[in-house]
This record gives sequence, C-alpha cells and structure tokens, in this order.
Amino acid sequence: MKVSFLGANRLVSGSCYLIQTKYKKFLIDCGFFRGEESIVRLNYQPFSFRPEEIDFVILTHAHIDHCGRIPQLFKEGFHGQVYCTKSTMELCAVMLPDSGQIQEEDAEEENQRRLRTGERFIEPLYDIEDALDCLLLFRGVPYQYKINVDENISFRLQDAGHVLGSAAVELWVTEDGQTCKWLFSGDIGRKNKPFLKNPQIVKEADYVVIESTYGARKHRPYRQEVKKFFSIIDKTLKRGGDVIIPAFALQRAQDIIYELSHYYNVQLKQLSNKDKKLKKLRFYLDSPLAIAATKIYRNNLQDFAQKDLRIMENKNQLLDFQSLRMTSTAKASKQINRSKRSKIIISASGMCDGGRIQYHLKEHLWKKESSIIFVGYQAEGTLGKKIISGEKCLDIMDEMVDVRAEIYHLDGFSSHADQTELLWWLKGLRNKPKMVFVVHGEKEESEGFAELVEQQLGFNTYIPVMGETFYLKDKEIVTQGMIKDGSKELQLDEILIDLNKIKQKFSLLLSEIELYGLDNEQESLWYKIKQRVEELQGDIRKVKYLIKENELGV
Ligand SMILES: [Zn+2]
Repeated sequence: MKVSFLGANRLVSGSCYLIQTKYKKFLIDCGFFRGEESIVRLNYQPFSFRPEEIDFVILTHAHIDHCGRIPQLFKEGFHGQVYCTKSTMELCAVMLPDSGQIQEEDAEEENQRRLRTGERFIEPLYDIEDALDCLLLFRGVPYQYKINVDENISFRLQDAGHVLGSAAVELWVTEDGQTCKWLFSGDIGRKNKPFLKNPQIVKEADYVVIESTYGARKHRPYRQEVKKFFSIIDKTLKRGGDVIIPAFALQRAQDIIYELSHYYNVQLKQLSNKDKKLKKLRFYLDSPLAIAATKIYRNNLQDFAQKDLRIMENKNQLLDFQSLRMTSTAKASKQINRSKRSKIIISASGMCDGGRIQYHLKEHLWKKESSIIFVGYQAEGTLGKKIISGEKCLDIMDEMVDVRAEIYHLDGFSSHADQTELLWWLKGLRNKPKMVFVVHGEKEESEGFAELVEQQLGFNTYIPVMGETFYLKDKEIVTQGMIKDGSKELQLDEILIDLNKIKQKFSLLLSEIELYGLDNEQESLWYKIKQRVEELQGDIRKVKYLIKENELGV
C-alpha cells in the first residue's frame, strides 16, 4: 500500500491523505487550505490524483479545513461515498453550501476587480449547487462500528471529542495476507469539556497520524477561563456597555451558549423582581450558520456526554435559554443594535474577516463602555488579529473606526487538545507503533510535539512534507518519495482527457448553433450559448494552467 500526505503538513489546514492499495484509492479528509494568501492559493492547484479514480472518502469531521474540498472533488468527477458520522453529515449539509456561497462571492468580487483591469474572469472553485449535490454521496455511520468496505479494507470511527460528530479513524488494510492497521487522529478534542465526550482512546495501531495544532503548548485551564469570561461580562454590564463575542459557527458558538445558558438560567431563577437590569438583558446568536449548527447539535443528543444531559432538567433547554434570541434574517439582525437594552451578541465569522460580526464591531468598537471578547484563534492578516494586536483605528466595511472598547482574548476555550492531552491520547496505545507521523500543526508545534513523543513515549516520529508518499510491504515502510515523482504522466493524461472533453463540447455547440440558425432572434437561446462559450473558456484556462504546471516540472 501507499500513503501520501497531501495537506496539513507543517500547516493547520488542508487535511488530506491518499491511500492506494492494489485495488482501491481513497482519501481520509479532503479539506480546504486556509490562512495567508500563499496557502489559500493551494486550493487552486489541481489535485495530485484523478478525482474520478477515488473510490471513497472517510471524513473525520465537519470543519472546513477537513471537508471543504469535497464539493470540488465531486465537481471534478468523484462520485464515490463519503463515510462519516451522522452528526458530521448533518453539519456538512450547512457548512458546505455556506462555503459554496463564499466561493461564489469571492469569485464575483475578484471578477468585479478584473472587469476594471481587463483581466480574464475566474470561476468559483465550486458553487452552492455543487455543495448541495455532493451531499448525496454522504453516508452516516455510527461510532465504534467496524465497516467492511470490501474484503481487504475496513474502518471504524472513534469519538475524537473535538466538535459534534468528530472522529478518529482506525483503518485496516489487508494485502498479501498481512493486515496493517493505521490510526488517523483527525482533530483531537479536550478532556472534561462540557457536553462533548472525552476523546476515545485507541489501544493499538501499526502507524499513527496525529494532529499537533497545540503540540508545543498548554491551554489555560478551561474553568479558569470561563470564570474570567463571566467577570468581564459582569464588569461590562455594570458600566452600561454591551459585549460582543466573535465566535466560530461550529462548536465555539455552542460552547459559549452552553456556558451562558448555565450561568444565566441559574441566575435568572434566583433574581428578585427588583433586579430588573439583568432581567432585561438580551442575548443574541446572530449568525445564520451558527444558528443552523446549533439546531443540529440539539437534534443529536446521542453524541453528548451523558453526565451533562443528566444535569439538565429539560432537554429542550439544551443550548437554549429564555433570553436568547436567534436572529436568522438580515432584518432581525439589523434591529439588534437599535434596542436600548443591555446585550451580549455572539456572531461570526470567528476571525471577523466576514459575516455579520463586522456590523457589530462597527457599532461597538468605538464605544469605551463595550467589550469585545475573542474566544478563538486569530490568524495573521485577519481583522480579529488586528484588533487583538492593539491597532487603534481600523477599516471596517470601508469606514475607519476608532478602537476604544475593551479587548480581551481568551484562548482557553479551544476545542483542540493541548500538548498534555495529545500525549495522554497517544499513551492509550498498548503497543509501540512502527511510526508516528506528526501533522496538522505549524512547524514549531509539530517539531515540539514529535520531540516530546520520542522522549516520553520512545515512539519513532516523522513530520512529513506535503506530497510525501510512503510505500509499505509486509507492514514495513520499504521506500518513500514524493507523489509528484510520477505525476508528469498523470498530468499529461489529464490534459488529453480535458482536451477531448473540450472537443466534444465544441462540436455539440457548433451543431446546435447551425441547427437554430445564426439569424435566430430568440434572446434566451443566445444567452445560454454565451454561457456555454464562457464555460468552454474556463475549461481551456484549466488546460493552459495544467500545461504551464508541466513546463515548470511541478
Ligand atoms: Zn477541527
């Protein structure tokens, strides 16, 4: 068998592993590259395999950096099944169309710019329709249930405790009578975090692929961070300010609602009628994506930690409380800031680089009595990063806004295991794996964690680079190289296939034009023909791009 590392290598995005056996080719995850422009550009590189040749995908969870390129894979010819948990499948049904919409909007914005410079238009990587269509390929499977894909390949999903539905993948591949077991961690969650179960320990594996997002760091204790969070809120409300919380739509928004609901459900019950101020306090979840995700959380109680469900008197109150308003429509969203009541607003995107949070920042950043609480990672170049870095005047939606509000960054809410928790998970193995591949971390995090694993557990570690491929025989690595080593042939093949497709489309279009006649005045007909000509231009651009890649020998 061959295993290729095609993303999240010395990076925290673009997770994708290609596994090739004698009879099958499949992927574990197919995620989006995110972050700085040079990394985002990797999404526009052709896949290093032919999408139509991929038999199936096993998906660890619904974060875009793990599933975001599945619609693109589908658009380019993949029609196999995508195995994941039921919750992941439901979350992908909102996350992927949302990503499709962002792709469409980004392409439109870029094309507006190109219109002025006379450059050629670009196509979105995929659109909402591609994202919706690819959902038909998804198949929900339960945790801890061994699935036999065929007589030689089986897998089992184990709860990773990172976000709802997240899983680590145990994979068994049998070749020449020998079975080799791989363990892919996906993203590992934290121990004893509310409502999610602890990551499930796996006892055995020949090879392990483990994430290292926080491989060299330790989080501040969760409860301590929650305490600080409420003290900031209380202080802000006392001085008459509002609290704005930028939060990722998946998991972080629900973490915050969970904590708020616990705190205020208890507090509000104990209030005397005199304490009107707190009674009038309003909470808003103002992000259509976070609202949709929260509803999916509420419908998937089977994945919640039982101890947290037991303490809840009424299951309908899960991730909900009396004063919480979910503002789905743009109209309701705009009314939030017109209200004179004190308010706490949770909105997305978590890094403030788009979405409704920008309106709230524009409304509140300049008010010295308000507080902005960041509860997640802020990547370089994002508006969130600029705010936590202390910039005093910022361009928000084409207007300059002074920063006078109090700014806080609480990173202890993270849903990624830290160094100690990653090590605890790995320690669960009863055998010594032949190799632990360290992935999904910035260079220092992966290196720091690999060193620790060698020192404390005595396991061999390796930090692969993107494209690195390992060839195994009789469970041992016999050689390693780059996937691109043999790719020239593959790319030339692809160019020929594309040129033939273009040829077919051209002749079809020509014959239709001849049939309808050039003097046909039906406007809708010419509109459709124009669209198809544009589509062909896109196809030709793709071939040109592939040829250029080959010339460069990439
Ligand atoms: Zn994740």
